[in-house]
Amino acid sequence: MHCPFCHHDGSRVVDSRTAEDGASIRRRRQCQQCGRRFTTLETTGLSVCKRSGAVEPFSREKVMTGVRRACQGRPVSDDDLALLAHKVEESIRAGGQALVDSHEVGLAILGPLRELDQIAYLRFASVYSSFDSLEDFEAAIAELRAGGRGEPA
Ligand SMILES: [Zn+2]
Repeated sequence: MHCPFCHHDGSRVVDSRTAEDGASIRRRRQCQQCGRRFTTLETTGLSVCKRSGAVEPFSREKVMTGVRRACQGRPVSDDDLALLAHKVEESIRAGGQALVDSHEVGLAILGPLRELDQIAYLRFASVYSSFDSLEDFEAAIAELRAGGRGEPA
């Protein structure tokens, strides 16, 4: 990122905020050579690589759709789902990668979903982590009881 005044390429970020759509970040930068400030708008396209190999833009809607299925009959509102999707996106963006695979999206969903609703979490985890025995459920339930925050198996 070159300074528009002196073309020095070292600058320090003094402020950054995410634009409304979540797809770009506006940063105030200060040039380390001349000290002048300028603004950059960085678009941060985030794509998801699906198991099929297809790449599509990250979509909060899709996160909500996937989680909503696990939340059927649970006291979870659309607002809760929207907030969860927001957290998922933030945690993925915090990783700084432009392309993540769908497995990482699933992992990012598990944490906030566990806080939101434990039954929905178990349902989601059972599909996502392909539980294939009662022992898998028991292990997940034991972990919930223990209040553990470790990565799910
Ligand atoms: Zn400068």
